Amino acid sequence: MSLQDAKDIVVVGAGQAAAQAVQSLRAGGYTGSLTIVGDESALPYQRPPLSKAYMKGKFAEERLYFKPAAWYEDQKIEVLLGTRAVAIDRTKRSVELGHGGQLPYDALILATGSRPRPLPTPGANLNGVHDLRTLADVERLRPTMVAGRRMVIIGAGYIGLEAAAVARQMGLEVTVIEMAPRVLARVTSPVISEFYTAEHRRQGVTILTGTLISKLDGEAGDVTAAILADGTRIPADMVLAGIGILPNEELAREAGIACSNGILVDRDARTSDPGVFAAGDCASRPLVHFGRSGRLESVHNAIEQGKLAAAAILGQPRPAEDCPWFWSDQYDLKLQIAGLSQDHDTHVIRGDPETRKFAVFYLRNETLIAVDAVNSPPEFLASKKLIMTGAKLAPRVLSDTSTPMKDIAAQAAA
Ligand code: FAD
Repeated sequence: MSLQDAKDIVVVGAGQAAAQAVQSLRAGGYTGSLTIVGDESALPYQRPPLSKAYMKGKFAEERLYFKPAAWYEDQKIEVLLGTRAVAIDRTKRSVELGHGGQLPYDALILATGSRPRPLPTPGANLNGVHDLRTLADVERLRPTMVAGRRMVIIGAGYIGLEAAAVARQMGLEVTVIEMAPRVLARVTSPVISEFYTAEHRRQGVTILTGTLISKLDGEAGDVTAAILADGTRIPADMVLAGIGILPNEELAREAGIACSNGILVDRDARTSDPGVFAAGDCASRPLVHFGRSGRLESVHNAIEQGKLAAAAILGQPRPAEDCPWFWSDQYDLKLQIAGLSQDHDTHVIRGDPETRKFAVFYLRNETLIAVDAVNSPPEFLASKKLIMTGAKLAPRVLSDTSTPMKDIAAQAAA
């Protein structure tokens, strides 16, 4: 049977990619049965506000949800919440559910996301040690975030630093402990790392880089301190771990679907089984503008792959792939990132970090491959387009703030 005649489509995972996939399937004319299986108890919701406005209490819970319950009913989409998919039988084409039921499928979309990397530290299971991935995580953490209390954050990635900004704004005493020599080391350049370190310190956050934790101490089961490798004791009323994520690929791997740091997919989000697709944080995909494959952990990626999977199942033309992009909000700083900077050989700063409005461009062989734009939407928007066209740009042109960014982009495109 061709997938275009599919009568049963099952989506495992009820997050960003799943929400997009079901919307695109219905919008694309699919009228057969459509079921989402999600192990959380909430309807699909957006995660970015969890470490930003929602954590601060400045974002109503209803706004987190992509669609209300009535929409799924109208669209005849069955949403099985609090239900875990535990196995895939690819011969019978069915998904086994945790409570014992089976769901047959003609096409299956795995949108299982990722989970926090567990803290490999003695004491990690004490009360008051938190992860930040789900709405339930924030519901546990937020009531303990009271002004004057001491929060230790382990890991200075985007989530750790966003949480540090929120906690500081709520009046907590915050210490961020990072093993790498600088904050955001995995994702950006030293220029941006230094800028954010300085900003957090200015706001009163203690940032310790190149620092290892040997254990977490507790009393009566509650965390009381982080003990550093050199023996220093940092008192803590709560600890937040933000040391990265692991893709939820086990369901696919155990079913014999090819995985390698993510479920391997082609440009159509199709796995090594032609009836099974994977989208979002769990998938390792071709990065068409960068000539390699990899896993992306972003809203844009989850949306794009949800659309790609739906189009492929419906036999519709592949939607054009956009340049990867991401954002992070800390204090009054909006960081917008386009492209992937990891392989750059040159960076160019446009504007002055002191003004809190600047951009860092990343070039490889004189070709623009990424930008980090702080409070600078024009630099972000123009770069997104230029990266996709493989534009070659001279550093002196990019750093010349007397020429508006849109003019630089127009000249490069001409
Ligand atoms: P998810 O949204 O994680 O959904 C996967 C769902 O599948 C989960 O509910 C999971 O529990 C469920 N699941 C897994 N296995 C099973 C199973 N076997 N059976 C049933 N259900 C299962 N991105 C940005 O671009 N910008 C940001 O500013 C940003 N901020 C973020 C802040 C936080 C705190 C977090 C946690 C993430 C942030 N992200 C941000 C990343 C972004 O939210 C993710 O990339 C996106 O949610 C990925 O969508 P997904 O559908 O792949 O996975």
